[in-house]
Amino acid sequence: MTAPTIGVFALQGDVREHLAALHALGVDAVGVRRPEELERCQGLVIPGGESTTMFKLARAFDLFEPLQKRIADGMPAFGTCAGMIMLADRVEDGTADQETLGGLDITVRRNAFGRQVDSFEATVDFVGVEAPVHAVFIRAPWVESAGPAVEVLARVRGAGADPRADGRIVAVRQGQVMATSFHPEVGSDLSIHQSFVDLVLQQ
Ligand code: GLN
Repeated sequence: MTAPTIGVFALQGDVREHLAALHALGVDAVGVRRPEELERCQGLVIPGGESTTMFKLARAFDLFEPLQKRIADGMPAFGTCAGMIMLADRVEDGTADQETLGGLDITVRRNAFGRQVDSFEATVDFVGVEAPVHAVFIRAPWVESAGPAVEVLARVRGAGADPRADGRIVAVRQGQVMATSFHPEVGSDLSIHQSFVDLVLQQ
C-alpha cells in the first residue's frame, strides 16, 4: 500500500514533533500553511500550541474555510491539545471571539486542569491501543461533555491535587475525527499516531 499523505497544520504549534512521529511511521507528512498544500492531503493533524492564535492565523492565511470544509466533507483529522480545541464544536473559557473548525460534538474547557496542575504527566488506558499510554498534559483542555455520536477513548485518573480532574475525558473520536487533550507527539510512543494513520488508510 502506498504511504498516505498527511498534513500537519503548520501556522502555529509543535509541528515538528508531529511531522517526526508521522515520518517514523512511514507516512508522507507535510506542513500545511496554504490551501494548495491542504488539497493533496488525505488527512490532517492539528498540533498542540495556542488555539486562540491558531484560528486567527488560519483566517489570516485563508486556510480556515478550506479546513472547515474538508473536515465537514469527511477528511480524517486528529487534534492534540490546542488541536482538540480547534476540532471541538463548543469551547468553554475561550476568548470572546474564539472560533473553531468543529467536527467533534463536544464541549471542551480550555486550560481546564487549573494552576496547580498546569502541566503533568499520567498513564492512560486508550481504547484500541494495547499498552497504557504515557500522556503529557500542558495547559490542557478536558472534554466537559460529549454528544451521543462521540466515542470516549481515554479518561484521566487522579490528575494531581484537583479532585474535579479525576475521571475527565481526555481523548475522543467521532467518525474520522479524533482528538487528545494531551501530547502523544511528545515522547517516543507512536501508538496513537498509528491509530490515526490506520483511520486515514481505512477511508
Ligand atoms: N491552552 C492552550 C490553548 O488554549 C492549549 C495548550 C497546548 O496545546 N499545550 O490553546
